[in-house]
Amino acid sequence: MTDAHKPAAEPASNFIRNIIDADLGAGKYVSRQWRGQPGDGPQQQAGQPDPAKIRTRFPPEPNGYLHFGHAKSICLNFGLARDYGGACHLRFDDTNPEKESQEYVDAITESVKWLGYDWQFNGQTNLYFASNYFDWMYRFAEALIEGGHAYVDSQSAEDMRANRGTLTEAGKDSPFRTRSVAENLDLFRRMKAGEFADGTHILRAKIDMAAPNINLRDPAIYRIRHVHHHNTGDTWCIYPMYTFAHPIEDALENITHSICTLEFEDQRPFYDWLLNRLADAGHLVRPLPQQYEFSRLNLSYVVLSKRKLIQLVDEKHVAGWDDPRLPTLVGARRRGFTAEGFQLFAERIGVTKSDSWIDMSVLEDCMREHLNETAPRRIAVLDPVKLIIDNYPEGQSELCEAPNHPQKPEWGKRTMPFSRELWIEREDFMEVPSKGYFRLFPGNLVRLRYGFVVKCIGCDKDAEGNITAVHCEYMPDSKSGTPGADNYKVKGNLHWVSAAHAYTSEVRLYDRLFAVPNPGAGERDFLLDINPNSKQVIQAQLEPALKDVGPEDRFQFERHGYFVADRLDSKQGMPIFNRTVTLRDSWAKSAK
Ligand code: ATP
Ligand code: MG
Repeated sequence: MTDAHKPAAEPASNFIRNIIDADLGAGKYVSRQWRGQPGDGPQQQAGQPDPAKIRTRFPPEPNGYLHFGHAKSICLNFGLARDYGGACHLRFDDTNPEKESQEYVDAITESVKWLGYDWQFNGQTNLYFASNYFDWMYRFAEALIEGGHAYVDSQSAEDMRANRGTLTEAGKDSPFRTRSVAENLDLFRRMKAGEFADGTHILRAKIDMAAPNINLRDPAIYRIRHVHHHNTGDTWCIYPMYTFAHPIEDALENITHSICTLEFEDQRPFYDWLLNRLADAGHLVRPLPQQYEFSRLNLSYVVLSKRKLIQLVDEKHVAGWDDPRLPTLVGARRRGFTAEGFQLFAERIGVTKSDSWIDMSVLEDCMREHLNETAPRRIAVLDPVKLIIDNYPEGQSELCEAPNHPQKPEWGKRTMPFSRELWIEREDFMEVPSKGYFRLFPGNLVRLRYGFVVKCIGCDKDAEGNITAVHCEYMPDSKSGTPGADNYKVKGNLHWVSAAHAYTSEVRLYDRLFAVPNPGAGERDFLLDINPNSKQVIQAQLEPALKDVGPEDRFQFERHGYFVADRLDSKQGMPIFNRTVTLRDSWAKSAK
């Protein structure tokens, strides 16, 4: 095993761990109280000292399936909570009424569990829905109005846009900015009561229309939307904006470290502004949650944008959200990728603030490393041609022994029947060998792995010249593991299965969905970069031990790569296998 194949031992340090170390060292969070569920400041104060040293959260919007980028965030947030004696909450950020559904909630929950995490801490289940916080959010909005920190704006959307200013030009105050507290409260309550149509009024924070950071130019915090919400039904016709809702969600849940991707960096001043106003008003208690940003995962040879993933599924370029070629977690699972491989990947790529691209081979190598350690070895012939052993008696067979893992003798051995007719790979025979070819060609000796040494004596061909069978003679005193077997020195070592005993099965050879590192680079249509050979379905010949395996059992097919029994299409005694990844990276070579 090379160094690169050792799993990461201690988690590597990173800037977020340094921040947490410093916070815990300074005792920043020891005074926090927790009542056992989300609540505002006074409610939490009535609780117990928070048993969680830190609280982090993973806050997906239930409007799509999780992808490899989310896996980075999940491993980070749940991993930090685990390592620091803290809790990580799974929070569905479902404050946007239009796009969300139960289907996504279920798929996301299952994917986070599949990655090896849960949201239990100290006997409590930290699974939350932001839409359950609408009452608090509404009250906090009223508190902002009462404090003179928010107003109802009735400008048209065009005027609001025009008055917002630009990066180099200050914005202009809305003519409604000077409304009295009483008028603002009255209007906001009537917005809530459903008196106004969508878009006629909006509640804005009152900060500074000349702020260099445009996000502080009186951002919108509540809008009118007369739509049904999957959780709250028709209770509400006003909904909080994400930038208002998110900091409040964090505060209600006692989150200490709110970790998000870099594009939210410019929102951090508003995050702090809002929580401090609410703390000043007595609705929240300090220390307040703090936001930290890290760079999102950019991975070569895939697309991680929700819009593009939806297009691939809707236009049927793939078979569905769990197509093994998609970079979704449901796809990865069917592909045979492992949760441990993702965790290793997250450790290896680390967490930084600088944008960078990670090559797909890094993720694939993490899967190889984990599978190399955990997947038993088996034999499969993917492109079969008959090998006939002319001097082996017809109707006879005998058992050969093969180790389940070459480096793990404790995993034992299994037996493979050997007989007169075998399947070997078509590419393991050449009538006229090329230079350096050590496999079967007339006159050459090779070892049939775990079996006998054979000498090639010729082949059969059909009318078109295709090879239909290869003929050999075997050396009866050469059986692997018997005395004297080593007397034969051969360069080729081939895998095989007995034709009479083999199990014929569908095998799906998956490869990368895109043929180029950056699909759709520039203005190019990303669909043009689809790899036309990303899926090949074949009928392979498998050793008998592969017949009775369970869904999601994983194996190394010797010389071919790692394969998994498809979790949906396999039937009892009839597994169908998906190729997870080849043994070596074939893309690195072809890219040169
Ligand atoms: P959108 O906002 O377009 O709906 P999203 O990918 O941001 O898509 P969310 O459900 O909001 O989806 O994401 C949940 C969490 O996952 C967020 O905290 C987000 O920062 C994180 N996340 C999303 N994409 C990546 C990525 N590529 N790398 C790391 N973290 C990511
Ligand atoms: Mg998002």
